[in-house]
Amino acid sequence: MSDLFPALDAASDRIALRFGERTLTYGELAGAAGALAVRIGGASRVALWATPTLETGVGAVAALLAGVPVVPLNPKTGDGELTHIITDSAPAAVLAGPGESLPMALDGLERIDVPLTGTAGPPPVEPGPLSPALIVYTSGTTGPPKGAVLPRRALTTSLDALADAWAWTGDDTVVHGLPLFHVHGLILGVIGPLRRGGEVRHLGRFSVDAVARELTAGGTVLFGVPTMYHRLAEAVDGDPELRKALTGARLLVSGSAAMPVHDHRRIEAATGRGVVERYGMTETLMNTSVRVDGSSAPGSVGVPLRGVELRLTEEDGSVITEYDGVSIGEIQVRGDHLFTGYLNRPDATAAAFDGDWFRTGDMAVREADGSIRIVGRKATDLIKSGGYKMGAGEIENALLEHPGVREAAVTGEPDADLGERAVAWIVAADRQNPPSEAELADHVAARLAPHKRPRAVRFLDELPRNDMGKIMKRSLGAS
Ligand code: ATP
Ligand code: MG
Repeated sequence: MSDLFPALDAASDRIALRFGERTLTYGELAGAAGALAVRIGGASRVALWATPTLETGVGAVAALLAGVPVVPLNPKTGDGELTHIITDSAPAAVLAGPGESLPMALDGLERIDVPLTGTAGPPPVEPGPLSPALIVYTSGTTGPPKGAVLPRRALTTSLDALADAWAWTGDDTVVHGLPLFHVHGLILGVIGPLRRGGEVRHLGRFSVDAVARELTAGGTVLFGVPTMYHRLAEAVDGDPELRKALTGARLLVSGSAAMPVHDHRRIEAATGRGVVERYGMTETLMNTSVRVDGSSAPGSVGVPLRGVELRLTEEDGSVITEYDGVSIGEIQVRGDHLFTGYLNRPDATAAAFDGDWFRTGDMAVREADGSIRIVGRKATDLIKSGGYKMGAGEIENALLEHPGVREAAVTGEPDADLGERAVAWIVAADRQNPPSEAELADHVAARLAPHKRPRAVRFLDELPRNDMGKIMKRSLGAS
């Protein structure tokens, strides 16, 4: 038994982890992770080579049982960034599946192969709620990744609040194809179901067919990022099996970036099911979610989760008290779900807090019913043009409703007259025959307001995205 994983029981033959054909029961997981926990017990910190495999699940559970802080590594990271993370986090060893070949950047580290069998030792003393459980590097969307130190309390608080919002239980089988080195795939997608006592069913690699297959074969909940739901939205009309699978799922959840309203609508039209959006960060785990017992407009990220205090603030630090759907402020949050700081970055940690309120850097409005609609990031998505403040997100949503637009990103550029002007970066649905600039600008002006029309349109073959499908706006010149 463990505080984090009450269902981990040597005698249980319930499936805990399923990666393709490979499975582990709770009993097998208790043995393998328990044995590895004894092996690494007392280490200061370990790294985890986080491929989408059973071994990554066992390695993470072992470190959590042993109370050894674990640093998940992205196997696709280049040597430079990997060296930065290893130097920054100084792990005593790296946990990896026996079949993995590790890059040279990890040569200086002791390698510990993760077993899939074993016998647990006597249960170790449970570490305190504030002891560090994981150090997760941020996605690096806006700058070099920073190591967020996540205490055990953040994990239990956030996962149990999601269980409350989603009626998430041990009867759920969570299907996903997310990478396992971020909060979304590892904490929500692996540690989450294991805490509930349910099953994790990992697709190895996301594909529309694999989602349809696994939801049909007993999956109840789907986790994905917006680029995945976009692919499902594109496919669902012509794929009756997929439509049936999505319609039959208990819960479809999107997060990690804003899901375009257009994709929300398409999935809802085809299946009668809304996609539940939740909003979180590496530093805060989950802040808000649409609740299964609530309702929300597409594009809303729902309401603050249990235990989360949330406020919107003006640039001068004053708190916005209106629930009017138009006053834009920065989201700040407070609660037991927060990280304790960035590793080795007291400067960045201090700058991120206003007292005990964490400044998310995300801008939002609050609707009359208390639900939150994210407008974008303060650094890259807030455009101040001709005396107006506008969010890139709503302009992107409007552009995506144009049939000639496949993908859209909006950035602000310096402008002599306006201060800043909105620029639209477009991937055309038909590259040979893209819509004209004037047509797109008029389309936005008609849907939103004349001042929100993009002042320039630039066509690209694809948008620059990171491994979570997030648009890298810095590569588009946003700062
Ligand atoms: P870095 O901090 O290194 O620049 P990052 O902020 O992308 O990278 P993460 O912690 O993985 O790293 O992502 C958190 C951010 O993702 C949030 O601050 C927010 O901007 C965005 N996000 C997450 N979920 C949603 C959502 N449902 N809607 C809109 N934005 C979201
Ligand atoms: Mg961030």
